[in-house]
Amino acid sequence: MTTGTAIEDSLCCYCSMCCNGSLFSHAKLDDDERARLGDSVFYEDVKGSRNLQFPCTQLGQNGACQVYETRPAICQAFRCSLLRAHDREELSLEDAKRIVDDAKAIKARAREAIDAAAVRLPGVVKEARISRAMRALEHEHEAGAEELSDTAFKRAKTHFRLYRAFIREYFSSKYR
Ligand code: SF4
Ligand code: SF4
Repeated sequence: MTTGTAIEDSLCCYCSMCCNGSLFSHAKLDDDERARLGDSVFYEDVKGSRNLQFPCTQLGQNGACQVYETRPAICQAFRCSLLRAHDREELSLEDAKRIVDDAKAIKARAREAIDAAAVRLPGVVKEARISRAMRALEHEHEAGAEELSDTAFKRAKTHFRLYRAFIREYFSSKYR
């Protein structure tokens, strides 16, 4: 997530994938952070815990965090492998942005394939997060939905797997 220096902020603002729901569905916060951020950023899980939900409502249209100075600790700590490689000067800003472009294009292709497969399954299409949409499509497939063709399902699943593999390769939080 967004960090201290101008060049890193430039990459993170260009990317925003750890804030916009591409990498995570939610993040845990402590009580102080909950009090600071206000109710609009939360969802409540089955155990009643209030977690920060993604896409984060604090993400500005320019890709910058609107509560940067007081953002949660988990946001301050997260640095994906792409950003770390950039920190180590193994990857120029231009090359890092190219990888972000690839990730966004692969995600868009996977989303298009899911929506095309689910064209007669509105419950799947209305899922805003791609991973939830894919899960809903898998559920329909397992249930033998007549509205879903095997070929379209296979195409969606293949594109989704490619997207997940790309994310794992470049945006994992593990130090590489
Ligand atoms: S996924 Fe990485 S590069 Fe993208 S905004 Fe988060 S930390 Fe920055
Ligand atoms: S609070 Fe800021 S850094 Fe944290 S997820 Fe939201 S937009 Fe990103």
